[in-house]
Amino acid sequence: VSLVTTPGILLRSHPYSETSAVLRFLTPEHGIVAVMAKGIRKRGPRGGVPIETLGEGVLTFRYDPARDLHTLREFQSAGGSLALGRDLRRFVGACLVAELLLGHALEHGDAQLYAWVRHVLGRLGKVPQEEVPPWILSGAWRTLALLGFPPGLDRCVRCDGALGDPGGTAAPDRFDVEAGGIRCFSCSEGTRLPRIGPEARGQLRALVEGEPPELLSAPRAHLNLLEAFCARHVAPRQGIHSFGMLRPLFEQS
Ligand SMILES: [Zn+2]
Repeated sequence: VSLVTTPGILLRSHPYSETSAVLRFLTPEHGIVAVMAKGIRKRGPRGGVPIETLGEGVLTFRYDPARDLHTLREFQSAGGSLALGRDLRRFVGACLVAELLLGHALEHGDAQLYAWVRHVLGRLGKVPQEEVPPWILSGAWRTLALLGFPPGLDRCVRCDGALGDPGGTAAPDRFDVEAGGIRCFSCSEGTRLPRIGPEARGQLRALVEGEPPELLSAPRAHLNLLEAFCARHVAPRQGIHSFGMLRPLFEQS
């Protein structure tokens, strides 16, 4: 048993007893770490500042290699609220990112993933209202890509042919959720898969790359596509709860 000190983002907190809670943190070097926080519900964490869900700080825990659950010793908040708690849509969007992460064991650290999650939570707390949907979608898509589930956007997922019709006269390409990417227009013929034109494909690529466009032409269609993709490729058996809350919130701009 050794003491480990690391930055971490609190993804989820579950009450354990009257006084304790199990906290799951994303960390840059240790992946997702679950710690028992004894007494936290009664007197708060050692260090004084309450731990905000999706907030960042530095945690010190007793690492027990024989177990999956370690023991929190101390938590120091990084200070400066992420400002997610004041706006339901921003908060639920951030919860979606957390849910996608928690669906994976993530036993090893991934500094790039950590930096991305930190970045997207920061942006979600700050960007103007109209940029919230693109940031939520980008938060989810890039997180999926970094977890190893990127959508196929470069070649047809069926025939490996080029996408998009240079002449612009053919039927549109379509997104094949089962196959995890786009089908060219000739492989799309006769299907009822969702259409995805060159503009939407460019927007989706930007979302996956973590550089969302300021304005999306059809945010609700993007959300539907993301939800279908998650349901097919990454959803735990019980589904991803954040979508149910996000759908009505996406109607507002
Ligand atoms: Zn094809």
